[in-house]
Amino acid sequence: MTSSVAVGIGTPFMVEVARDAPFKAMTEPLQSTSVSSTTAPSPLPGFVEKTPLERYLPPAKPSLVGLSRAQLTEALATVGVPAVQRKMRVQQIWHWLYVRGVRDFAGMTSVSKELRAALAAKFTLARPEVVAEQISADGTRKWLLRLADGHSGERPHEIECVYIPDADRGTLCLSSQVGCTLTCSFCHTGTQRLVRNLTPGEIVGQITVARDRLDDWLGVARPAGETAIASSAGGQRMRRGGQRLVSNIVMMGMGEPLYNFEAVRDALLIAADGEGIAISKRRITLSTSGVVPNIARAGAEIGCMLAVSLHAVRDELRNELVPLNRKYPINQLLDACRNYPGLSNARRITFEYVMLKGVNDSLTEAKALVKLLAGIPAKINLIPFNPWPGTKYECSDWEQIERFSEIIFNAGYASPVRTPRGRDILAACGQLKSASEKLSARERLALRAMAMTD
Ligand code: SAH
Ligand code: SF4
Repeated sequence: MTSSVAVGIGTPFMVEVARDAPFKAMTEPLQSTSVSSTTAPSPLPGFVEKTPLERYLPPAKPSLVGLSRAQLTEALATVGVPAVQRKMRVQQIWHWLYVRGVRDFAGMTSVSKELRAALAAKFTLARPEVVAEQISADGTRKWLLRLADGHSGERPHEIECVYIPDADRGTLCLSSQVGCTLTCSFCHTGTQRLVRNLTPGEIVGQITVARDRLDDWLGVARPAGETAIASSAGGQRMRRGGQRLVSNIVMMGMGEPLYNFEAVRDALLIAADGEGIAISKRRITLSTSGVVPNIARAGAEIGCMLAVSLHAVRDELRNELVPLNRKYPINQLLDACRNYPGLSNARRITFEYVMLKGVNDSLTEAKALVKLLAGIPAKINLIPFNPWPGTKYECSDWEQIERFSEIIFNAGYASPVRTPRGRDILAACGQLKSASEKLSARERLALRAMAMTD
């Protein structure tokens, strides 16, 4: 395998592997995004969104990982499984894929040899390839994953996926796009030029990779020579009482999940399926920068928890920080939140607010924030800004974050400040940016210096 492990702060930033292919982005004809038709772009001043490349070439042998039950049934039909057997076979294969995590058809021991061979002739169980693995001093792990999509002569598409262990849970932060369609001014991912929507298989594949790397499947012995890493480094929690290491999912990695709605929906429904990965919808949170028309769909068609990246209380400032605000301003966004299906005091919306020094962190803004959210069952999550090379922003001073947080707390909200995790490996919010856009040596040094000093 080509991955490398860098443990802790004092080790090299990341070992890069096989990156000779010339970088080529946005040189192909573009098509429109797959956002629902209600969001047809209208002419707006300024640059709001990029158009994703719709050039995904499925591999000649597709992977079964990420197919819905209906698609799996069709796949079985193509290899001649009689109609009366298909439901039972789907159950079996689903279990092998999502409870046991088999990586080889040979491991599906309850499936006949003939069917295994027929499946192996047409399909794979491939997931994204781990190109690099980093483990932060705080136990956070970040994987750089290479996607199977192959365009010859072009740099392969890559994404990042982060695992954050805590005492009572393990949260996996998934990407929904290569890069991001949007251009939030404080976000590193937003500066990436190349954008491609991920397929459901590539989104579910991130979960399977994490469970592979953490040895987090039920009852599967690892192949000889491969070591489990779950118990070896970074203060990692062992599986206790059968509880899985990956217990929660947040769609907070690279990309805007609601600009890749169908794929994200299909992937999250697989993640929540009780006979497979079985992560309850209450433990799945989708974060959006405010794609208003798809917010209601997320509630109705996925039923997951919602987080909204608010970051400002005035349209003028939000237009600058989150340019999508020019299309869907604050009042429209909050209306969509008020109407979020399933919203209640027990199922609140999390409002994310990145703390930018001298930009959005005054106490007047804290008071305005509380007023703005009155009547919406909400949690407010203050996120210290995570810096990246070339950014014009700085993180608010700690004392200011505390004062800001106190106003919110006094208004009756729990206002946890999100502890930055994995900063030393650039795994924190908004720092994700695939290595497709290579950092210069100077940038890398600057990043490491920042990670070590703040
Ligand atoms: N695109 C989605 C989800 C991915 S970003 C969204 O914007 O909600 C996940 C969260 O990280 C968002 O709240 C985003 O605003 C925040 N974020 C982005 N860049 C950041 C940075 N440099 N420091 C702190 N938080 C950041
Ligand atoms: Fe995209 Fe979210 Fe970053 Fe904005 S904050 S550029 S929507 S990933």
